[in-house]
Amino acid sequence: GAKAAGRSTFRLYDPAMDAAVAERHGLELDLRLGLERGEFALHYQPIVTAAERRVVCREALVRWHHPTRGLVPPASFIPLAEETGLIDRLGAWILRRACRDAAAWPDGTRVAVNVSAAQVRHGPLIAAVQGALRESGLRPDRLEIEITESLPIEGEAADLLMALRRLGVRIALDDFGTGYSSLSYLRRFPFDTIKIDRSFIADIADPGTAAIVRAVVGIGAQLGATITAEGIETEDQLAAAQREGCTEVQGYLFGKPVPLEA
Ligand code: C2E
Ligand code: MG
Ligand code: MG
Ligand code: MG
Repeated sequence: GAKAAGRSTFRLYDPAMDAAVAERHGLELDLRLGLERGEFALHYQPIVTAAERRVVCREALVRWHHPTRGLVPPASFIPLAEETGLIDRLGAWILRRACRDAAAWPDGTRVAVNVSAAQVRHGPLIAAVQGALRESGLRPDRLEIEITESLPIEGEAADLLMALRRLGVRIALDDFGTGYSSLSYLRRFPFDTIKIDRSFIADIADPGTAAIVRAVVGIGAQLGATITAEGIETEDQLAAAQREGCTEVQGYLFGKPVPLEA
């Protein structure tokens, strides 16, 4: 960089940096356009009971059908949407679509919607949720909002989540166990669902990992929360998750995320 090059040489132009900035800028413009052009879609992945494999919920996972880049996964654009503030508009669209879709499901199952920390921090999230519920007529307890430990639960964020819960909406803690303060997180908020991160499930054949899952299930039961195991890919993993007491399970074994038509 310019600093390492010493005081006498000022680098005013760095082609590599330039390309990265241009790429980012292009993607940001595309994101704005994509919202206007309706290039986003929701795929749904089933969440089933561990005992009978009965579908009880479907998680909405956003996809971007980019005109030239093809199908773009959320990890490639959600962070940028968060940084640019576009997540509020995208998030409101996701909530509206998910509630509208779920309202038409004849089996009365829940829909889970992921919400970014940025949306809870600065977004008009309550209004978006209320609007989506009102427009769709979906019963509030059929909507589950998933947040992760990247959101510090204190002050306004805690108030906001509580307000959502008072609406009757369920609150889930996603990717549990991957943050730095998982246990104290559980003390801060009465989560309806705790989703054990798939890294634990991938390693559940290990007795130590299985013991941790068992302990989380015990804590969840004491707190009155549903425990979902994420990322179940094999019958062995399902058997282990069941053995350790997980109530709901999700993963490729039961179905990948697919468009609603499928
Ligand atoms: P997540 O909420 O933890 O969602 C689960 C991710 O794991 C999904 O990836 C899903 O396709 C994948 N998955 C499910 N079952 C399995 C399995 O058995 N094995 C493996 N290897 N993977 C499995 P996806 O759709 O790429 O989403 C990645 C992340 O992007 C999500 O993680 C979530 O944090 C975020 N995301 C997705 N949709 C939205 C959205 O609508 N809004 C926001 N704010 N974030 C979203
Ligand atoms: Mg999730
Ligand atoms: Mg997850
Ligand atoms: Mg995850």
